[in-house]
Amino acid sequence: MARTIEPDCRQCRREGRKLFLKGERCLTKKCAMERRPVIPGQHGASRKRVTEYGLQLREKQKVKRMYGILERQFEKYFDDASRAKGATGETMLSLIERRLDNVIYRMGIGASRAECRQIVNHGHICVNGKRVSIASYRVKVGDVITVKERT
Ligand code: SF4
Repeated sequence: MARTIEPDCRQCRREGRKLFLKGERCLTKKCAMERRPVIPGQHGASRKRVTEYGLQLREKQKVKRMYGILERQFEKYFDDASRAKGATGETMLSLIERRLDNVIYRMGIGASRAECRQIVNHGHICVNGKRVSIASYRVKVGDVITVKERT
């Protein structure tokens, strides 16, 4: 399984805002965005000029990093959204919000999306009574999500 290897806090610093990737630590003074809120790298602090393209790229990267999605899967969400009716951006965000790991995060079961992803991958979550271990599973309205009981 492909995954991002870039350190979490470095990703926040690159995007210039808190992405809340580390759970409770993000709310403390230990947060890297509190201690060193500059772009990583030797010339990070002196980088100022942002082009229109750069702005759009940063917004895309922000969403990807926030939800822990890689480029190819993000592209698939875009394809699905562009084929559906309505505004592509809004449809895309609603598709991403319906990911099972995100729904678990919104329910407050885990402190971060990464933690919730692990909870799902380890088979602790059931949807409509059936165990689901795929983090990108698309939840529908009316689905019943439960935590699997210990056997
Ligand atoms: Fe981002 Fe701060 Fe959380 Fe690190 S601790 S992931 S910098 S919000």
